[in-house]
Parts: sequence; structure tokens; C-alpha cells
Amino acid sequence: MLDKIVIANRGEIALRVLRACHTLGIKAVAVHSTVDRNLKHVGMADESICIGPAPAAESYLNIPAIIAAAEVTNAQAIHPGYGFLSENADFAERVEKSGFIFIGPTTDVIRLMGDKVEAIKAMQAAGVPCVPGSGGPLREDAAANMRTAREIGYPVIIKASGGGGGRGMRVVHTHAHLQNAITMTRSEAKAAFGNDQVYMEKFLENPRHVEIQVLADGQGNAIHLGERDCSMQRRHQKVVEEAPAPGITPAQREAIGKICVDACLRIGYRGAGTFEFLYENDRFYFIEMNTRIQVEHPVTEMITGVDLVREQLLIAAGEKLSIRQQDIVFTGHAIECRVNAEDADTFMPSPGTVKCFEAPGGPGVRVDTHVYDGYRIPPNYDSMIGKLIVHGRDRATAIARMRIALAEMVVEGIKTNVPLQQRIMTDVGFQQGGQNIHYLEKRMAEQREKTAGGH
Ligand code: ADP
Repeated sequence: MLDKIVIANRGEIALRVLRACHTLGIKAVAVHSTVDRNLKHVGMADESICIGPAPAAESYLNIPAIIAAAEVTNAQAIHPGYGFLSENADFAERVEKSGFIFIGPTTDVIRLMGDKVEAIKAMQAAGVPCVPGSGGPLREDAAANMRTAREIGYPVIIKASGGGGGRGMRVVHTHAHLQNAITMTRSEAKAAFGNDQVYMEKFLENPRHVEIQVLADGQGNAIHLGERDCSMQRRHQKVVEEAPAPGITPAQREAIGKICVDACLRIGYRGAGTFEFLYENDRFYFIEMNTRIQVEHPVTEMITGVDLVREQLLIAAGEKLSIRQQDIVFTGHAIECRVNAEDADTFMPSPGTVKCFEAPGGPGVRVDTHVYDGYRIPPNYDSMIGKLIVHGRDRATAIARMRIALAEMVVEGIKTNVPLQQRIMTDVGFQQGGQNIHYLEKRMAEQREKTAGGH
């Protein structure tokens, strides 16, 4: 068993990992930047170390400082959380070369999935259905790219091979705009990801985002824990997630789940992971695999009763998966609302001091947040300050619980997106379920027009 690990992250996920450690009797070392001394998990950790100044590049992305923290505290493993270094193969490699366990897949698998072109090739070979596309990187050959686009059929989307976080993508509707879009995406990708490789996919017009959670021990055992629907998005960023996905039948779940499990075994996957798909006209199209724990993992935990972070730790400790596929039973419905420190209408970040914080409660309500009365949100990091997760016996119950929970939550001193989340929960289309990835932005645009028209 592991005795002590370093949590190389901050905020709610650092707290989440710390809780999982403590339930297993594992000691947790918090590493933090100078502005993060007062983070909740830092106070609760068995040890804490300041690894640098506020800018993430000098602290949470500072590989030597994080490895040094593991060395001086005699820890055995490093949990990367999500974001920051979680999908950085070079980091994983240096962690392992320094004699520590990286809590995640092997370096090779992280590297493979980090290159979307290579990931798609590997998935196609493993029998996972993918979006029709260029099947490889685009070359500088304008005529060839035009042919590819014509074969795929417009609209197409140009995507950065090294992209992430919803950045580095461009939709193209006509030949006339193709070459320019490729050039622009290339140079953006070069600047943002240090990799100018781009590829082309069919742009699916009205898909939903449905993803499959997997767990694998790297010793020949893998299971899936069903799907999540993350179609409520703004600028390719998830806003609300739920499990199960409305309308997905048990037979569909079993079929796509098995495909993902088989792919895990084939690529030698280890740890928790997510296969992201676009779902349109009853078909799944793989877009990418995330080789880490995800923000929205709690909705899966709520309907399966499996503690995914605990499982990550057990797998990292070298244990075989103790849960078999037939042990996974899906109960009820869970919804997660991301709570961001931002204006609900303009989406401008709203850092500052939280004067008063009151968490909601009641049956089926879970609050994953590092916020407390007097907590000062620094301007340096992502605006997400927590997640509200509810569970109910059916979707309608979950929505009702979420509405009450959002209404109960008090966050004073800063702005939050809670009003937006309330509007989503009372929206008739959301209540119907199964909306596509453009629905939220469309509804927000309609709302803006209505407000503008009223004046
Ligand atoms: P990232 O790694 O940046 O999150 P993804 O490949 O996961 O990139 O895509 C993020 C989002 O972009 C998807 O959830 C979807 O909204 C949109 N998207 C990506 N590929 C396509 C496609 N082929 N057709 C339509 N929308 C797409």
C-alpha cells in the first residue's frame, strides 16, 4: 500500500484527492504556490510545501519543484489531478525516472493520447468508432487538403493535434475558407501547444457529447462505469454534466462500454480514463481520450457508488481491480453544475474575497469545493471554485434537487455563474433532456435578443 503521496494540484480536486488519501490511511503532501497558502486542503494536509510564486508556470507546472517536494517528504507517488501537468507525458516520465509512481497511465499511453492524430489511429485500430476525417496530419498541399475536405464533405473542422481545453479548432463551410483556416489553426496551435500539426474531421452539426468512464489496472483487467452527457457547453467548455445520458439504452451502454474496455486492454491502459465521443443519430464517434480524472467524475460516482479517486490510488499501489463489470449497477440520476467565479452574463472572471459561503445540503446533495468564509480567490487560475452535484432516483428528482441546492447556496463578495445554472435547470429544453452541444449557446443568444428587444 502507498504510505504518502504528493498532490500536484490545487482547489477542489486537490481536496478531493486528499479526502481519498485519508479514507485509505495514506498521508497527503500539499504543494502550493505563494498565493495558495490558505487553500483548504493545505490546512488539512499532513505536510505542505510552497513550490513557487503565483504564476502556474512557476509553481503548479514547475516540474523540478514538485519532484523535489516528493523527495524531501519521502513520498512514494504523485497525483496530478486534472489540468496542469496531468496529461504531460514528460512530467510522468520524470516522476517515474526519479523513482516515484505517477498516478495515471504509463508515459507511452499519455504520449499517445496527447497526440490526437496518433490517438485516433490507435483507436481505429482498436475498433473504436471515430469521426470521418483526414486519418492523419494535414500537409501543406492545398489541393490535397481540398480533396480531403470534399471527400469528407463540408462542413469540416480543423483541429490541432496537440490541442486541449476546447482550444485550437476551426469550422470550415466552404472551399474558399479552407486553406486560410488551416494556416490560422496551424499558427495558433504552434503558439499555444508548441506543435503546429493539424488534422481534419467532419464537423458534426448537432451532436451530443457523451463520454465513457473506464478503470483499468494495467494487469489485464478493465471495466467501464457507463456514460456521462456533457452537452451543455459554452465555447467548447462543459457547464453541466449528468449521468446517465438521457435516452441511451442499456444495450447501447453495454456495446460502447465494451468497445472502450477492449481498447483499454489493447493499448495497455492503466488507471482512470475517459473516452470522449460525439453522439449523433444514435451513433458514437470517438474524439479523444482523457488519461486522468475528470472534473465531472462525481456524477459517475453518484450513480455507481464507486469512489474513482480511491480506485486510482489502489491501482497506483499495484492492486488488481477489485470491482468486476457485473458489480457495476447504475442507480438513479446525477447532475453536476460547475460553479465559477464569473459574471453569469458576461463570463468575466470575478476573483476576490468570499465574504460568506454557505453550502447547500439535504438528501442526494454533494458539494465539492475548497471555498470557505473569508477565502480569497486569486486571479491567477481557472475560475471554477467548486461543483454542486445532486443525485435522485430519476432525472426529474435530480433537477428538482439541483434547483433547491442552487437556491440554498450562498456565495457573497464575488459574482458566480449560479444564476446561469438556475436558468438552465428551469429551461424546458434542458428538462426534456438529450439536447446537443450547441443548445446552451443558442438559448443564451435568444435570451440576449429578448432582453435587448425589451429595452
Ligand atoms: P479538447 O481536447 O480541446 O477538449 P475535443 O476534441 O475534445 O477538444 O473537442 C472539444 C469540443 O469541440 C467537443 O466537445 C465538441 O463540442 C467540439 N468538437 C470537436 N470535434 C468536433 C467535430 N468533429 N464536430 C463537431 N464538434 C466538434
